[in-house]
Amino acid sequence: MRRKRILSGMRPTGRLHLGNYLGALKNWVDLQNSHECFFMIADWHALTSDYADPSQLRANMREVVLDWLGAGIDPARSTVFIQSLVKEHAELALLFGMFTPLAWCERNPSYKDQIVQLANKELETYGFLGYPVLQAADILIYRAEVVPVGEDQLPHLEITREIARRVNYMHGGPIEPVTNAPLNPIFPEPEALLSPAPKLPGLDGRKMSKSYGNAINLSDPADAVTAATRQMVTDPARVRRSDPGNPEVCSVFAYHKLFTTDRVEEIAADCRSAGIGCTDCKKILAGSLNSMLDPMRERRAQYESKPGEVAEILEAGTARARTEAQATMAVLRERLNLVSAAADTMAAAAAAQA
Ligand code: SF4
Repeated sequence: MRRKRILSGMRPTGRLHLGNYLGALKNWVDLQNSHECFFMIADWHALTSDYADPSQLRANMREVVLDWLGAGIDPARSTVFIQSLVKEHAELALLFGMFTPLAWCERNPSYKDQIVQLANKELETYGFLGYPVLQAADILIYRAEVVPVGEDQLPHLEITREIARRVNYMHGGPIEPVTNAPLNPIFPEPEALLSPAPKLPGLDGRKMSKSYGNAINLSDPADAVTAATRQMVTDPARVRRSDPGNPEVCSVFAYHKLFTTDRVEEIAADCRSAGIGCTDCKKILAGSLNSMLDPMRERRAQYESKPGEVAEILEAGTARARTEAQATMAVLRERLNLVSAAADTMAAAAAAQA
């Protein structure tokens, strides 16, 4: 059976942490078994908010691709590519801009949110407002049928679906009278695949984030991970070793639920009865995290030692992505009566005169 095609991407923001892994990357690794996957390093998207200081962009792209490969993204099964090297994304975003009413972008709830949250950056720009249009181009240029998203990304995907519908309706051939759908659509309307994304607290109990300095990176060495678990906040009411604890208010326990799944009940019971101390409980967690991260660190180190191989993976992935993107653009350009060579213009004029 043909596998459905997925497009997903990440802005290259540097080394990925456990929150990024659980929120997206782990899911991507699993989706490789069931879908045809396109994974994009979204470097143009990084510039929508960081256009003033792109100094870290290349280094961040390198870290992200190493983390992906380390985590188990398999270039033999998935297309891993760099957005800005497939220029057709820009062409499609420009054309979609012609079709997209301004209000669709302005009503996007995350637009206003982000402007407030990133108040230190000047984000009232054309590019930032048009972010969802570029995202629609990223998805639809591969005719992706499925997009793994979190709840907060649903409005963006809705704009993608609306743009696909609008272009199809205008240029997707005759309309079928019963379904009112175009008979020869150019784009699929991609479905959301709501992915499980458990919330992972940072070391201090707040949301895990690079900017809070409370993250554990996938590439951190084992002793750094162990040291990080020692800093984690626990049940604040458990002052002495002999005090019974409440695992439900403890960040360490939130991690055990995700990473020490075979011993969760036992740890909860031992915490409540003061049968285990927080120091030992954190040691168990460090063991769980390190046994999950060990194979990732090893794979990452292997790729890191062969930069030529990683470059080849990206080149091959980008070439494959470009072929797909060009095929989509050929169809759209023809439907929009654009020429593929200057001579087409003259041929059309000659045909009109004949
Ligand atoms: S024993 Fe473990 S679960 Fe209980 S408070 Fe301490 S660290 Fe948290």
